[in-house]
Amino acid sequence: MRIFENLESEVRGYIRSFPTIFETSKGAILTDEQGNEYIDFFAGAGTLNYGHNNEHIQDALIEYLKKDGIVHGLDMATTAKKEFIQSFNETILKPRNLEYKLQFTGPTGTNAVETALKLARLVKGRSNIVAFTNGYHGLSQGSLAVTGNNEYRDESYISRANATFMPFDGYFDDINTLKYFRKFLNDGSSGVDLPAAVILETIQGEGGINIASKEWLQELESICREYDILLIVDDIQVGNGRSGDFFSFEFAGINPDMVTLSKSIGGGLPMALLLLKPDLDQWKPGEHTGTFRGNNLAFVASKVCLDNYWQNDDLSNAVFYKEKILKDKLQQIANKHKDDYTIDIRGRGLVYGFEVKNDKAIASQISEYSFNENLICETCGSDGQVVKFLPPLTISEEDLKEGLNRFEKAVDKLFE
Ligand code: PMP
Repeated sequence: MRIFENLESEVRGYIRSFPTIFETSKGAILTDEQGNEYIDFFAGAGTLNYGHNNEHIQDALIEYLKKDGIVHGLDMATTAKKEFIQSFNETILKPRNLEYKLQFTGPTGTNAVETALKLARLVKGRSNIVAFTNGYHGLSQGSLAVTGNNEYRDESYISRANATFMPFDGYFDDINTLKYFRKFLNDGSSGVDLPAAVILETIQGEGGINIASKEWLQELESICREYDILLIVDDIQVGNGRSGDFFSFEFAGINPDMVTLSKSIGGGLPMALLLLKPDLDQWKPGEHTGTFRGNNLAFVASKVCLDNYWQNDDLSNAVFYKEKILKDKLQQIANKHKDDYTIDIRGRGLVYGFEVKNDKAIASQISEYSFNENLICETCGSDGQVVKFLPPLTISEEDLKEGLNRFEKAVDKLFE
């Protein structure tokens, strides 16, 4: 629904636009031009993990701009870049015993994915990439070819040449999907070329909050090692603390060859990053460049978040604490309506899905009813059948509870 005529010249983007114009924001609250306040359970699809207009970020940016810090440096070394790299190494990589080189790509998540796919093919000298049903990696040619939802490409004539899809964990009930992957790799008649890499999200964000188990991820990693395939984890949506740990794969103890990060890595400013194991840095100078790589303002914003939220486990602990509140309340709502609706609740940390199994179309109505209760929540899944919860990780307990009460009211009204 497009209610604001003066924006009619904007190309239609996402399926639904909320019928108001937002003006200001703070923490988990968005305020529109009429002064109505909304609790934000979407947070820019995981871009605002530290909340809207986070004070640490605001202060750091104002100070940096006032001292004439470099805003654009192309590939030059800058103080902001140096300090971000130091902080990322010390705060994130070292304590986790991870060793990666950092490659700044173009500013969006898609750019990081494209870089990873190009590098994997270059290093392995093979073109096939294995991706998974329901995975989402972006909508430009290469990333779209490994995105599992046909809707994004049906009429764009983009080929899936050089991509093979395998069923994600849980895609078939009661079947170990990786058994098939292994069999296909061994079987010369399967039609599956040995891939350069496997790319996956450990929790599928756009695809419906589908969660890979620890055992499945470990088995996938051992297949990759056995067959000399690179393992790429796309942590653009569920990295940066969303799952409770900084990286979504930490709980499984796996060690991907490459990791893509974007969205909240820049504290809400455009930034994307590819982490690659040092031996994979086989680029020739100038082989993969671009103008807006490594935005200095995003380095400043990112560093201040790393320093304030990742020096200890406080944010992780807060995420797990709030997860319990979120999960319990969603479960309570599901139980209340269980005679009429089969509701599945799944997630980890502060990424959750609420799926009404026997009525796929209802999710978008729940989102609309929630908006009427001054709550922003979006849908995801192959048919938009899952209501998605991604509040800022820093949301106050009070706002979280109030948002959940509004959600309950919306669901009750719709189901009554
Ligand atoms: N990968 C994942 C897992 C994503 O969730 C997204 C964005 N939703 C992308 C890649 C693409 O990122 P961007 O939209 O910033 O290009």
